[in-house]
Amino acid sequence: MSQALPLLLAALLAAGSSAPGAGGRSAKGSAAARAAASTASTASSARGSPQARAEAARKAQLEEARAGLKALMGDRTKRRYHHHWDRAIQKLLAAGRGAAAGPVQLEAARARYALYRWSADESDREKALALAARAARAGVPQAATFAAAVRREAGDDRPPVPRPRAGPPRGAAPEPPAIEEEAATDPELEAAVAALKGPSAQPEPPPAGTGPATVAAVKTWTGGDYTRVAIYLDRWVGWRSDELPASGGAPRRLVLDLAPARLDGAASSRAVPGEQVDRVRTAQHGPDTVRVVLDLPGHDAIAFHRLDDPPRLIVDVGTRTAAREARIAAGRGGGAAEPAPATADGEGDDGPDRRLVRRVVVDAGHGGLDPGAIGPTRLREKDVTLAIARRLAVHLKRAGFEVVMTRDADRYVALEERTAIANAQRGDLFVSIHANANPRRALNGSETWILNVADSRYARRLAARENGVEEAGEGGEATRLLTDLDARSSTVASRQLAQEVQKELVGATRKRFGDGQDLGVKSALFYVLVGARMPAVLVETAFISNKREEARLASPAYQEDTAAAIARAVSRFARADLRVARAEAARP
Ligand SMILES: [Zn+2]
Repeated sequence: MSQALPLLLAALLAAGSSAPGAGGRSAKGSAAARAAASTASTASSARGSPQARAEAARKAQLEEARAGLKALMGDRTKRRYHHHWDRAIQKLLAAGRGAAAGPVQLEAARARYALYRWSADESDREKALALAARAARAGVPQAATFAAAVRREAGDDRPPVPRPRAGPPRGAAPEPPAIEEEAATDPELEAAVAALKGPSAQPEPPPAGTGPATVAAVKTWTGGDYTRVAIYLDRWVGWRSDELPASGGAPRRLVLDLAPARLDGAASSRAVPGEQVDRVRTAQHGPDTVRVVLDLPGHDAIAFHRLDDPPRLIVDVGTRTAAREARIAAGRGGGAAEPAPATADGEGDDGPDRRLVRRVVVDAGHGGLDPGAIGPTRLREKDVTLAIARRLAVHLKRAGFEVVMTRDADRYVALEERTAIANAQRGDLFVSIHANANPRRALNGSETWILNVADSRYARRLAARENGVEEAGEGGEATRLLTDLDARSSTVASRQLAQEVQKELVGATRKRFGDGQDLGVKSALFYVLVGARMPAVLVETAFISNKREEARLASPAYQEDTAAAIARAVSRFARADLRVARAEAARP
């Protein structure tokens, strides 16, 4: 897949990119340059001289800057912040003076490129190339090789593919550019981003003796028959859950113990709106354990999800599966596991013309401090997604759907909050809008994603829970089955929805431009889809990293086409869904 998944995480809070540290460089730099120039002789012969001490200090400064950069690349939290990179790279450049200047500029270029891999900000690639050019001028032969590798990955070294004329295609379709989804990367670039890989790229249980984790916050979202609780940590530690039945006037409780952990701030006990959770209490329980207790007045099932960056344990409370699943199950007669939800507004009513898909949740990707990917002309993904989402809402309403938007302004919404909104608002479908980005700038086209329940990480977590090891969330057999079933049942519908969206999207692009590239329906572990109780898809409309598609994404005409296409797909899916339900209901 593209960079899409890391980007969702990486671009978080990639705020201010001011570049401090440059100011001090000139004065110090020139002094050191003089020192370096006057000590052309070896340092050892002049041990103890001022020149030698200056040389030693310079070396120490360089080593410190290198170590700082390496630490940053390995730090899963810090490396998501653009300003940390700016500072570390500035430090490196400030330390690289005299004879070292050229090689250090190349190191800085590599670091910039590694940052680009995280930020998907095209300006970071440009800066990497500018640094490489400086290094080349300083006589570093590898600089040209590195720059060539960057251009090769971007596809800038190839002659431009002749553009088909706008308008309907005539005769033979243009030859689609070859998609090398996971093409082997250049060794030069591998070296540049090497520190981003390795063990730190996969969240693993921390080694023993790294001290307690901090429980930073506990948040809740409630709506209708669903409550989501999120517990935020600064790193993963072991946790276990216990369910205590109601007794002696005390309600049923879910007790979560996280250890070793410290609570950030005072113990708290607060009421939670809604029917599923009365109270959430958080306290330091013994020196090493933070205990979170949920008072549960009802019999709602519980599901756990684990999200990373920042580490957060998600507890979903509420029995409702997607309304459409329940209605279809009810329509099957006998043995229906789940009764149709009976609600005040009569949603459980199954009239002959009743729509199974009534409310669509439209999710504009990124927002606020999280810009998403940034294109060659500085177009921001968060602005494009909001523009398309707004237009999509208009089209859906016109087609008779109710619409809930996870955001309708340029504001930050956490991934877990987006799904929580969808579940709490009883959405029947969830559509998350994004724009793609890839270091290979030639890559173009549309792809639609669904949650992959067979993803190795997902599977590993599921297994861990079944085996009662590591994460040891012993929610009981029913919880485990429900979670599993939830995910699987909506996968079939999600895939159908994804296929409709993909077909309409590619069709619309081909109609207008004659060159819609169909990258298909794919699946991966997208956090924004985790725990969604309705068919859910993530649409990568087009590549913002591709100059041609960036221009399209910026244009109201394309935004309108895209929104209309997705709305048509939703309508088609809804009609097919209704037919399935009728057929199921008619079956003896
Ligand atoms: Zn995105």
